[in-house]
Amino acid sequence: MAGKATQTPQVTSGLPKTDKPRGHYDIYAILEAPQELYFGDEKEVNVNVIEKVRVKIEGKEYEKCYISPTKRRGVERRCLLWSDAGGSLLMDKLSCGIPDTCCKETCPVCGVFGGLEAGQKTFIGRLTHSGGVSVEVQIALEKQRAMHPALIYKEKENNPMPYRKEYAQPGLLYPVSNHCLSITEDEFNTAAYAFLMSLNRLGAGNPKGVSLARGKWGEQEGPLLVVDAYRAPMGQRPIVSAAITSNEKAIACFTDLAGRVTETEGAVFSRSTGDAALEKLQRAAAAFEAMHLQA
Ligand SMILES: [Zn+2]
Repeated sequence: MAGKATQTPQVTSGLPKTDKPRGHYDIYAILEAPQELYFGDEKEVNVNVIEKVRVKIEGKEYEKCYISPTKRRGVERRCLLWSDAGGSLLMDKLSCGIPDTCCKETCPVCGVFGGLEAGQKTFIGRLTHSGGVSVEVQIALEKQRAMHPALIYKEKENNPMPYRKEYAQPGLLYPVSNHCLSITEDEFNTAAYAFLMSLNRLGAGNPKGVSLARGKWGEQEGPLLVVDAYRAPMGQRPIVSAAITSNEKAIACFTDLAGRVTETEGAVFSRSTGDAALEKLQRAAAAFEAMHLQA
């Protein structure tokens, strides 16, 4: 290659520079639907069907209800943008919306969730979401609804269209996780706020909302929630296999894996579980409020 001028390609992440230390954060949770839920998939001749996945267990195929990662992500992002920021909504304060993401370096939403400014720049989202495959195998329930909700408020609709809608059954457990790659503590505050805010708002139409399922952490009962903050991944990840179909087994698997970590405090890896994990997320959510939701 002698004589040929070599150019170093300019490769940058495009992310805003920061003096603050970055780290990785994971949230693992088992969500419980306290009532029937609808996570829309598609409409098949007047039946709104929910999203399901097929799982092969010991040679037999089963259908399981599913909360897709794109839906969880969308609900989280909307929760952030529609939060009150001292008289205006955060989306108005930031001039950031969906799909019109602002991609400003100072935007706490685009910085974490990513954004796209047509032909200009792209922020890579550093928060990724798992889908939630229900633990138990249950047949989705189809119910008659009098009128499509989109038509209820339409004036002069003389011929209401009856339609049928499927619902995921109440009591189903959905193990999910959120992963944050190389973010600052301030950015984790955004992710924590969004995760907690989304719980009451998951589901399309009505009813909405899931809770954090509860289980035993040793002698104490608490939310099935794990929060990891780390520079290097250590320990076992509390991820429940889709092949498990018993709630008891799923919960036992989750708490057992969460307990398998040698280094729980320190700069390399720190894990919080149960009530302590919830407190960690709540403290982070309050810090987000103080930093971004004031007038
Ligand atoms: Zn933005």
